Amino acid sequence: MAIAPDETELRELEANSATGLLDKYDTETADESLWQQDCATAMSDEAQLSEQQKRLAAGPNYPVMGWLIFLHAGALAAPFFFSWEAFAVCMFLYWLAGSIGVCMGYHRLLTHGSFKVHKPMRWLLAFIGGLSGEGCALEWVANHRKHHAHSDHDGDPHSPRDGGLWSHMWWLGWSVSCSGEYEAHINRWAPDLARDRVMRWIGYMFLPSHIVSGLVLLAVGQWIGGPYMAASMLVWGLFVRLVIVLHITWFVNSWSHMWGYRTYETTDDSRNNWLIGLLAFGEGWHNNHHAYPRMAAQGHKWWELDLTYTAIRVMKWTGLAWDVVDYKKISDRNK
Ligand SMILES: [Zn+2]
Ligand SMILES: [Zn+2]
Repeated sequence: MAIAPDETELRELEANSATGLLDKYDTETADESLWQQDCATAMSDEAQLSEQQKRLAAGPNYPVMGWLIFLHAGALAAPFFFSWEAFAVCMFLYWLAGSIGVCMGYHRLLTHGSFKVHKPMRWLLAFIGGLSGEGCALEWVANHRKHHAHSDHDGDPHSPRDGGLWSHMWWLGWSVSCSGEYEAHINRWAPDLARDRVMRWIGYMFLPSHIVSGLVLLAVGQWIGGPYMAASMLVWGLFVRLVIVLHITWFVNSWSHMWGYRTYETTDDSRNNWLIGLLAFGEGWHNNHHAYPRMAAQGHKWWELDLTYTAIRVMKWTGLAWDVVDYKKISDRNK
């Protein structure tokens, strides 16, 4: 099973990327000189433009903007369709999609390789991660590895140094790269996932999975309480829950790089923020995480509650997970 590259490997990957990109174009086009010319222009532009400028220059990403506006518009119906049953479903799915899907699956397993699982479990966690509404695993992992490699320096897709709102959500509304080269971005930052056909197929299931879960929520609501309950389940179980999970994840990128205490001296602005630590199931202890990205535990003090790590430990006890990285450095491994 492929292991996620550590920070050093990511930085080497970044250093070699210009050559890699050029080689790709050379082998895939009939008109080499034209592609070489394009690449030279793109690379000289890259040298001049910041990550934010590159994204803005690439133009709006209408599918992503449309998706996020649609979800927020649906959540506006929340006060008119409240029920305690739907609220309970909302809270359960917030934990499932947020802690199990994003924090455990997308982040600690797929991005950082903090533990190992069998392939079907890896795919299941990637699928549950998609239920967060945050896009497919390939793109999420690629963006996040790029964030670690460039944290709060040029090349970081979402640094608060480019603006608080930009780091929170606005960065998502703009295209991935200057040339719209989605595949190049994925292959460069998440080659281990890009090779996995099942992982790609799960990515294609992103939108259908939300349509199906919406229909299931409608059907369950109708079955237990009629039309009002059906609408309540849809609004709270899907729209409100997705908006909650999205903003709490985004607060890790914004608030946890702006406010909080620093336990470790890192080269970025990462902070440990107790509010995000609680709401994001342990991911708000973000300074700890930037200091030791592969560590499965992100709460490093006894009072830094980390519910995602608790779930990883349960997986380890039941034999579903192994090789949990619960040491800071390789040299600490068997201490
Ligand atoms: Zn960060
Ligand atoms: Zn990370």
